[in-house]
Amino acid sequence: MKLFTKLTVTLSLATIAVIGTSFAEDAATIKTAFNKLVEGNQRYVNSSTVCHDDWSAKRLAQSQGQAPFAVIVTCSDSRVPPEIIFDQALGDLFVIRVAGNVVDDFAIGSIEYGVTVLGADLILVLGHSNCGAVDGALKGLKFDNHIQEVLNAIQPAVDTVKGASGNVLEKAIKANVVHVESKLKGSKPVLAKLLEQGKVSIVGAYYDLATGKVEFLDQP
Ligand SMILES: [Zn+2]
Repeated sequence: MKLFTKLTVTLSLATIAVIGTSFAEDAATIKTAFNKLVEGNQRYVNSSTVCHDDWSAKRLAQSQGQAPFAVIVTCSDSRVPPEIIFDQALGDLFVIRVAGNVVDDFAIGSIEYGVTVLGADLILVLGHSNCGAVDGALKGLKFDNHIQEVLNAIQPAVDTVKGASGNVLEKAIKANVVHVESKLKGSKPVLAKLLEQGKVSIVGAYYDLATGKVEFLDQP
């Protein structure tokens, strides 16, 4: 989807569809983007990362523009930095981070910018183990401030696992990923249309804080 430019954003979605690449090309670039995340996480888990040295050269190479291959929607948690856990460099990932990896109109606008203007091929919604935001919603904590807004956004996902057996927090975190994915997939007019056309893909994942492993919940 690299043919998307700032120019095309000013055009209608119908025009973008005509300008875009073929379905097969899009499917291949989406798969390549997905594999970069899978392989980067494997390097991180194995302590064989390659993207975090020689910053000066990378800064210079990226200083005139950016073309990230993926949009990452994840939690603000200090232990879940996407560039590190996917072993990616400057300019590789367009990252939206909000506690509980929930999305509002500002987040969706940022995601739309990442895919339509910058040309990212893949949107990954990433939850993580022991997420305090999801845990708070699961426990029904109440706040008289904006933290409550975050918990309210997570609540519908939490409600789907109430009464479940086993690790209910993990189930709630994964349900929240699926819930956010679903919200993005239905987001009109941009994301729903691009998905229908096969121009982008949205996948969910779960990051284990202890092992460093990312479990992909679906495939592009
Ligand atoms: Zn979290």
